[in-house]
Amino acid sequence: MSGKEQQGSGNIQVVCRVRPFNKSELEMGSVPCVEFLDQQTIRVKLTNTDGKEKADNKQLFNFDRVFNMETTQEQIYEVAAKPVVQSVLEGFNGTVFAYGQTSSGKTFTMQGASIDDEKLKGVIPRMVKTVFQHISDAPDHIEFRIKISIVEIYMEKIRDLLDNTKQNLVVREDKQRGIYIQDVTEQYVSNEQDVFDLLRIGNQNRAVTATNMNEGSSRSHMLFMMSVSQNNLNDLSAKTGKLILVDLAGSEKVAKTGAEGRVLDEAKTINQSLSSLGNVINALTDGKSSHIPYRNSKLTRVLQESIGGNSKTTLIVTCSPSPFNDLETLSTLRFGIRAK
Ligand code: ADP
Ligand code: MG
Repeated sequence: MSGKEQQGSGNIQVVCRVRPFNKSELEMGSVPCVEFLDQQTIRVKLTNTDGKEKADNKQLFNFDRVFNMETTQEQIYEVAAKPVVQSVLEGFNGTVFAYGQTSSGKTFTMQGASIDDEKLKGVIPRMVKTVFQHISDAPDHIEFRIKISIVEIYMEKIRDLLDNTKQNLVVREDKQRGIYIQDVTEQYVSNEQDVFDLLRIGNQNRAVTATNMNEGSSRSHMLFMMSVSQNNLNDLSAKTGKLILVDLAGSEKVAKTGAEGRVLDEAKTINQSLSSLGNVINALTDGKSSHIPYRNSKLTRVLQESIGGNSKTTLIVTCSPSPFNDLETLSTLRFGIRAK
């Protein structure tokens, strides 16, 4: 099997998705600020206030794949997520991230406009379906155990989204278990519906804390974790793969002036953890770094065993096509190519 030989950057894929215009953008008669040159290449067109394109921006961005506004949920799944879930079923770890400014389509891509609509469901429900399909196709002597945890990371604190009483969980490491979140709720599931019920609870809890604390839900990272263990009752072999699906906090810059107090602290913390993630991915893909800086944020610490090594990772950067967001789109694409 080739899995064990896979190393480093070959296991990290970076793709870009641009969402369609929303209703108000359409009403403004917006022209997209991005141009697709081929299946790998995208360009941002910066315009002046008179609507004319700025002359000085010729930079092209290259990704493993770029997905335009017409891309279906199915197409994203096939390219960006299916190879990751297949690797998890072989006993490796895998991670899919969505990175982008608020309202660029991260949650639409990860969960979907609806988690059980055949066409609109996103990466998470499609991966879950693949896992249970695999289980029902497997021979009887393979015994499966599937566990789900859902957490969010806000201001460097890990909150359990399946149990509101756990607001500050601790990351531990030991020889046997590796890296783990101590006392996190792990719920056993036996079918797709069980998972969707948990996802609904997780989303609800995330929205509730966000409202109580007067923070936008886009200010935290949400991590959906699925561990798949298989025991072979014939030869007594066993393997476990862990899948982590991450809907990152919005990457937008807060206005340089005006932000103060908690808003500013929040912005700094988000910035720091997103750049820690960028640094880790960069260190893994440049092939030169012997030290991977996992310990610089809670996010990268939790993900330590799920990016790099034999793990398979896809980073999906999501962008708005609106000229109003062109600078954020530019900065999102820069983050994406830096990770390649
Ligand atoms: P984010 O999670 O990045 O803040 P959302 O996923 O919530 O953004 O997307 C913002 C809005 O745009 C939502 O109403 C969502 O349904 C819509 N949207 C995002 N991406 C797409 C897409 N590819 N196709 C259709 N609608 C989309
Ligand atoms: Mg979202």
